[in-house]
Amino acid sequence: MRQVSLPRTLGELWAVLQRQPHSAVYAGGTDLFVKIRDGQLNPESLVCLERLTELQGVQDNGDELFIGAATTHSKLIVAESVREHLRVLVKAASVLGSPPIRHMGTIGGNIVTASPAGDTLPALYVLSAEVEIRHCEGSKRIPINEFIIGPGTVDLAKGEILAGVWLRKHQGWNLSHYEKIGRRKAQACAIASMAAVLELTETGKVKRARLAWGSVGPTVITSEGVENALIGEQLSLEVLKNAGTMLDKAISPIYDIRAGADYRRMVSKAMLLRLNDYACGTTY
Ligand SMILES: Cc1cc2nc3c(=O)[nH]c(=O)nc-3n(C[C@H](O)[C@H](O)[C@H](O)COP(=O)(O)OP(=O)(O)OC[C@H]3O[C@@H](n4cnc5c(N)ncnc54)[C@H](O)[C@@H]3O)c2cc1C
Repeated sequence: MRQVSLPRTLGELWAVLQRQPHSAVYAGGTDLFVKIRDGQLNPESLVCLERLTELQGVQDNGDELFIGAATTHSKLIVAESVREHLRVLVKAASVLGSPPIRHMGTIGGNIVTASPAGDTLPALYVLSAEVEIRHCEGSKRIPINEFIIGPGTVDLAKGEILAGVWLRKHQGWNLSHYEKIGRRKAQACAIASMAAVLELTETGKVKRARLAWGSVGPTVITSEGVENALIGEQLSLEVLKNAGTMLDKAISPIYDIRAGADYRRMVSKAMLLRLNDYACGTTY
């Protein structure tokens, strides 16, 4: 039987982690317990982060929002400040798993799992999120694309935890879109996904663009080539098709049980083309 610790303060957490350096931390457990049950992981003991108030909820800190790592997807989706400033993240978290998974699973767990299919990750990349890492002697902030090193691998040392994620509030994007292609509507890992934020002029010209794809490379894929092909152009199918040729060079999809590499390439470009529909009225 494994010991489970439930610290209520960061002081208690650091003490537990010092006493039990080989324990695994968890929040909702929706990734960790699947891996333990499958025999992929066998930690000596477990430390639950759920009761730490410092890791819970969304704080408005002037120009930035801080989302605590143990904030569940359900809570994130309804937070007023997140809905107002980070629409692409709301859209991504809203299609993650299913209601029970969104009630249990947390943004911190999604980030640390670092799955190429993680739904919040493309949204966090296009919003230039920074993660806050804490240890018993202090904390540091690093960009999310430096924190996620590879599939399932993040830059987190023993005794460190992810405290949360920092995002700038007024980013000026007036088109926010997240789409995922899965084998069914709910509880489906992404075969491919795309997050996009654009700043369009009143006449529909692209002033700025950030795009990121999930499940088509070892980590989230971004492409300056695609973004540059959009900037300064009137958004249209033609322009998006042209930008799609740049995407081919950026992505490196694999064949797995969910889909083939060619299919992933095709739908990645199709999601890009669909931005035209959004720009044409419905989802500004
Ligand atoms: C049926 C099912 C469907 C799913 N569908 C989706 C889906 O559609 N899209 C998707 O992206 N994911 C999906 N998932 C995966 C999972 O639900 C999400 O990744 C979720 O956000 C994980 O959060 P958690 O709090 O449950 O993570 P946990 O299981 O608690 O932790 C996951 C990992 O992160 C570490 N960790 C957690 N919090 C911290 C922290 N603060 N600091 C340091 N390390 C930490 C743990 O040690 C562990 O390695 C699904 C899972 C299941 C079981």
